[in-house]
Amino acid sequence: MGAQDVAKKILECDVAVIGAGVAGLTAAALLQRDGYQTLLLEAHDKAGGCAGYFFHKGYNFDAGATVLMGLDRAGLHTQTFERLGAPLPESALIRRVPARLPDRTVNIDHDQAAWARERVERFARDAAEAERLRAFWRLIDRTADVMWAATAKLPSLPLRGWRDIAANLRLVSPGFAGVAPYLFSTIGDALRRHQLHENAPLRAFLDGLLLITAQETADRAPFLNGAAGLDIYRHGIRRARGGMKAFIKAHVEAFRAWGGVLKLRQRVTRIAPQRGGGYLIETERGLIARAPRVVANLPIWNLPGLVEADLSARLARPLEKAGTGWGAFTLYLGVRAEVIPDDAPLNHQVLLRYGESFADGNSAFLSLSEPDDRASAPPGRRTLNVSTHTEVDGWWRASPEAYAARRAEVTERLLTAVERVFPNIRDGIECLLPGTPVTFARYTGRARGMVGGLRTTLWNSNLFGIGARDAGLPNFWLVGDTVFPGQGTPACALSGINAWRDITGHWALQSPPARERAPAVKSAVKPAPLKPPLARPAP
Ligand SMILES: Cc1cc2nc3c(=O)[nH]c(=O)nc-3n(C[C@H](O)[C@H](O)[C@H](O)COP(=O)(O)OP(=O)(O)OC[C@H]3O[C@@H](n4cnc5c(N)ncnc54)[C@H](O)[C@@H]3O)c2cc1C
Repeated sequence: MGAQDVAKKILECDVAVIGAGVAGLTAAALLQRDGYQTLLLEAHDKAGGCAGYFFHKGYNFDAGATVLMGLDRAGLHTQTFERLGAPLPESALIRRVPARLPDRTVNIDHDQAAWARERVERFARDAAEAERLRAFWRLIDRTADVMWAATAKLPSLPLRGWRDIAANLRLVSPGFAGVAPYLFSTIGDALRRHQLHENAPLRAFLDGLLLITAQETADRAPFLNGAAGLDIYRHGIRRARGGMKAFIKAHVEAFRAWGGVLKLRQRVTRIAPQRGGGYLIETERGLIARAPRVVANLPIWNLPGLVEADLSARLARPLEKAGTGWGAFTLYLGVRAEVIPDDAPLNHQVLLRYGESFADGNSAFLSLSEPDDRASAPPGRRTLNVSTHTEVDGWWRASPEAYAARRAEVTERLLTAVERVFPNIRDGIECLLPGTPVTFARYTGRARGMVGGLRTTLWNSNLFGIGARDAGLPNFWLVGDTVFPGQGTPACALSGINAWRDITGHWALQSPPARERAPAVKSAVKPAPLKPPLARPAP
């Protein structure tokens, strides 16, 4: 092949986005909508990453994330879809999540009054403790309200330049001043202050919830992030109609409708900074792209192996802050509907034993498809996802026999957890697939299968978090759940939105409408061919 042939194959674009997880999809769709010709390269054969989906034996399973936040009126997914001029994916509010502890069930209610009663009655041992519990939860509610309001205004942390400072000025409010003193506290500190730290069932309940939302337990989870994490059900979680496939496809359709180009099965193997500026990007299958800007939707752990530059000095501190992330062990069950009551809540949390590690099946999160959701399961069937935390390293070191034995052991423990909720579950299982960190590494490309962002502590979050530009490369942004603000689909969306803000110079998603209207998402507009950079609308 001559030099000319090679040159012909180079795709030129304004922005190359690497990875079509929620962060990459959000950044790509917003940039494309604002006139930046965007090429989105995804290694897998479907978009979504840890919020993706797969098909097996007639079932459509969510691969990782199953519940969504950010679909409320001020939510970040709502704001994104509004800017894209695309319909918000349909979803149903989850009204109640029962948490089964070894000796009691705590019904976490979306209804404020019901939840305010339940969270005191289930844990108070006397009237004085009930009063302290009320005070603790009032503080959590107040703090969470401030955090949600602040998130809707698109914070940009850590502070790395004047634009970040200016963006965060919008957050200052009397409510914010009220929670600022807790900036350097943990949830554990607040429990101690309310003399609740020794209430073991309460601690176990909070730790289980915090592990899911902040990847850390009360003693290490920052108070501000932890308060928001403990508040997610009151704030409102939803399940997309048709599961995560519907949510992800809505992003892909909006991106394509604006003319964006998504290339699947294109694992990027090299990102080479060019002497004159910009980047050359190469994939395993020989695709070569050139872009003045790169948005990398990758966990920070993946970066050193991909970028052809010595990042060791720049990344040493961020990688230290990132530490080793959790892995997930997941069970994907296809079950006959008769073993699950039609009116059962879609989500449950189970703790098998007090005083033991939450990992490897002692704590489990259950997510069901709706009884009438034909996009997820055949008639008379439902999907049931069950997940638990697990340390990643042991899975990689194990011999094939030890790996299989451990997989069987955790599967068994998770099935025991499911039986606490649905006693006849084993009679109804038609399909059972376990997933380990090795599975996640294979399908999402994440280093060692570490998922769910960082174990959030005071020293790797908010003001001290990892920034999108911390790799120190010009016109290069890292987005996704290992940079601010962290894990979960709205948080990942915010990291993508922040990259879009940096690139376009916009301050907010609701800024004046684009000069041209979005084509109707259903109209299957043919993607525009990649071409030399477009003239950009003024910021
Ligand atoms: C089991 C589990 C349950 C969860 N439950 C929830 C939940 O209910 N709600 C919630 O909000 N969050 C949940 N989360 C967290 C949430 O799913 C993630 O934080 C979020 O989806 C991460 O998105 P991301 O954009 O950071 O990256 P990822 O999802 O990791 O996406 C990155 C993408 O980049 C691609 N890629 C990787 N390397 C390359 C390469 N070299 N070239 C090209 N492409 C590449 C990958 O294939 C992937 O598609 C859960 C996570 C797990 C694992």
